[in-house]
Amino acid sequence: MQPEESAKRKALVSACLLGRECRYDGRHNADSVLADELAERGLEAVPFCPEEHGGLGTPRPPAWIEERDAAAVVDGEARMLTDSGRDVTAEFLEGARGALAACHAADARIAFLKERSPSCGVCQTHVGGELTEGRGVTAELLARDGIEVRGVAGRR
Ligand code: SF4
Repeated sequence: MQPEESAKRKALVSACLLGRECRYDGRHNADSVLADELAERGLEAVPFCPEEHGGLGTPRPPAWIEERDAAAVVDGEARMLTDSGRDVTAEFLEGARGALAACHAADARIAFLKERSPSCGVCQTHVGGELTEGRGVTAELLARDGIEVRGVAGRR
């Protein structure tokens, strides 16, 4: 094998976008457009689910940023709560740190992340139970590291 053949660039990808049934409701968000884009760019996907990595099982209760935004969560100024009010901040932060470590391990400087997720959302996420503009916690932590974060709709 030529050296360049083993040096395919890596991209972190929300695992649910690749068909893994790791959503809170046990479903997936497989996105065929994303698969084509990865192939065209010659990128190898590194699947990762921050919420499972953080110890939240599947299925799991829906959760959201309690108030303000993901930056406040990363800075320790806001919490992540489930729909019944359980504090899952530690689990979300552990998942975000795991995603960052996975990027570093794979030398991935781009991440394709599922929009509207409290972890993976890039342009839209959930705050106080409502869909709103802003990043999820994992997207925030990766962006702070200079990793390019791209939002993907899912289910196309
Ligand atoms: Fe996991 Fe992110 Fe997909 Fe949610 S959006 S299921 S946290 S990979």
